Amino acid sequence: MTIPASANRDPADTSWLNPGAIHAALAASDREDAGRVREVLDKARALQGLTTGEVAALLQIRDPDLSAELYAAARWAKEAIYGKRIVLFAPLYISNFCGNACNYCAFSKDNTALKRRSLSIEEIQREAQVLIAQGHKRLLVVAGESYPNGLQYVLDALEAIYAIRLGNGEIRRINVNLAPMEVDEFRALHAVGIGTYQIFQETYQRDVYAAAHVSGRKRDMDWRLSAPDRAMQAGIDDIGLGVLFGLGDWRFDVLALMTHAAHLESTYGAGCHTISVPRIEPAHGSDFSRAPWNPVSDDDFRKLVAILRLAVPYTGIIMSTRESPQMRRETYALGVSQISAGSRTNPGGYAAHADAEALPDAATMEDFDASQFSLGDHRSLDAVVLELAELGYTPSFCTACYRNGRTGEDFMQWAKSADIKEKCGPNAVGTFMEYLLDYAGPATVEAGTRAIERDIAGMGEKERRIARVIVDKVCGGKRDVYC
Ligand code: SAM
Ligand code: SF4
Repeated sequence: MTIPASANRDPADTSWLNPGAIHAALAASDREDAGRVREVLDKARALQGLTTGEVAALLQIRDPDLSAELYAAARWAKEAIYGKRIVLFAPLYISNFCGNACNYCAFSKDNTALKRRSLSIEEIQREAQVLIAQGHKRLLVVAGESYPNGLQYVLDALEAIYAIRLGNGEIRRINVNLAPMEVDEFRALHAVGIGTYQIFQETYQRDVYAAAHVSGRKRDMDWRLSAPDRAMQAGIDDIGLGVLFGLGDWRFDVLALMTHAAHLESTYGAGCHTISVPRIEPAHGSDFSRAPWNPVSDDDFRKLVAILRLAVPYTGIIMSTRESPQMRRETYALGVSQISAGSRTNPGGYAAHADAEALPDAATMEDFDASQFSLGDHRSLDAVVLELAELGYTPSFCTACYRNGRTGEDFMQWAKSADIKEKCGPNAVGTFMEYLLDYAGPATVEAGTRAIERDIAGMGEKERRIARVIVDKVCGGKRDVYC
């Protein structure tokens, strides 16, 4: 990645976050204005993104008819850019030790009743093997903010996961969700070949942030706000941002998140690669998590996903298993492009379940005693894949962009070009076919085979030709075929 000259700015400078300007933008459109909303929705269909003022106008939508128009625009944008593809991944929690006290999280150092565990490298490999045997190709490595052997522990874990070969399976892309680091540490992380560096700001409201982060390094809000700058300066150009909904006012936080993405884009040439939209879920030892200050209703949640889809059309939106199957289904169409499936948020949870198939209740109890939060969707990867295929989506395990060097600004340029259609569709069906041949249950094989035929039939001529070549190679025994 070539870092633009403007990137020489001080990464610790967080003056781009201007609460006054965000409040002013919200106040300027504090009433729902149907004419203005329709104007913005028309503009959004050009797929060039929206300004802060335009996003502020959409954030005021309350009327059900206008909401329906917002959803229609978001569905259209999703389909135009991503087609029917939904990329799958699994989180891998390697350690739940933490030096911070965040009032919403079970891993808080003040939660003395939590069962603490840092997996050994062998245990981490065992977790990854279970996930590979399910068919996963992408992982998100997650940890609390305290590693047994400093960052080296994480680096060793990532290398050990990438080294695994299991039958036809392997992990091809590891994203991470880890605490902020210094530039040199980010360089080391980059050197082991991570995909996206994810960091959720939780909230951009300073008073709320201070109240939720009781002690530990995370109390320093600017250290966290500036982490993506340091990662970019270290050469990591796929950054995943997010807000933890339930803490502050969601409208303010969505607008601030847009400001954050705009800051990264203007400084480094690439905004954020993904946005995550976690809502606070009940967590062991956290009364706050059961009654957060500003819960986001299901209605507002659908709206915020749709608004993000229109505001940053080329940025992936991630939906985790925090949400129920029903909410996940609804938001696929509104803009979600990546989902986790079959997740566990306790270190060692995958192997524990694989080894204790006969004792599901015991394993579930163990989970909550060491997990970060409780989940809304407990279905297996295969059940989620089957449902996606039946709903008309294409489950994708593709990692081609990252491995072809299409990251950061290069990815954004490429995503906006016609090339994306000719490559993403064929790569998605190729990886889906790998899944069907190597991992799927009988019902998924049947529905999936029909889905692949349907997808290929719906492609343009060139795309169809490429897809046929890839699928034929996979059916002929080749793996990891992509363009
Ligand atoms: N410890 C690191 C940090 O805080 O940045 C990284 C991993 S942390 C386990 C990942 C994310 O989980 C946090 O950024 C937070 O947004 C989310 N999280 C924590 N508690 C949660 C809860 N009760 N419900 C939903 N998400 C939660
Ligand atoms: Fe630790 Fe992260 Fe949980 Fe905060 S959110 S307590 S930093 S694991």
